Amino acid sequence: MKLICIGRNYSQHILELKSEKPTEPVVFLKPDTAILLKKQPFFIPDFSDEVHHEVEVLVKISRVGKYINSKFAHKYYEQIGLGIDFTARDLQQELKEKGLPWEKSKAFDGSAVIGKWVSKSNYQSLNKIPFSLLKNNQIVQSSNTEDMLWGIDEIISHVSKYFTLKIGDIIFTGTPSGVGKVKPNDSLKGYIGDQEFFSIKIK
Ligand code: MG
Repeated sequence: MKLICIGRNYSQHILELKSEKPTEPVVFLKPDTAILLKKQPFFIPDFSDEVHHEVEVLVKISRVGKYINSKFAHKYYEQIGLGIDFTARDLQQELKEKGLPWEKSKAFDGSAVIGKWVSKSNYQSLNKIPFSLLKNNQIVQSSNTEDMLWGIDEIISHVSKYFTLKIGDIIFTGTPSGVGKVKPNDSLKGYIGDQEFFSIKIK
């Protein structure tokens, strides 16, 4: 399986990183080895002094598809989740400046936190899901999927032009503003509405 991640999907986050607003979704992949194993802490890797949390709404693909029209994209997923796209920001900045791929800063072991899954039918509209990240019990990121530049169905349509989507693939739909550095002993908890989706320790 693969993890397909969207970058720069929330205007406020684009502003905070002083990135350019994209004209189409920014896409990158993480391998399955990036998944942080359940109940394990996240270890800050030794190649970075600035690992940032990026909380993101996740979508799990439930049907094989290619060139999916956004009108039919909803038939390709049943479950929604929440996770973190950990990013070695210092390394990413270096790679960006050199025009190099981001993988070393984005796709390293443990960089993908995947919380629990719930049926999408729990939500009236997937374009209005409030979600947040608490660091040491303080809200650091808080947003709503209505602020995405590209919604879930548009993302699926776009990425399936390039990659065949397979059952079990997971899409990270991008982070809102409020990203920041994690330190040893921090705790991170992710919520959709008032429901906890994950809780992890930083080491
Ligand atoms: Mg991200």
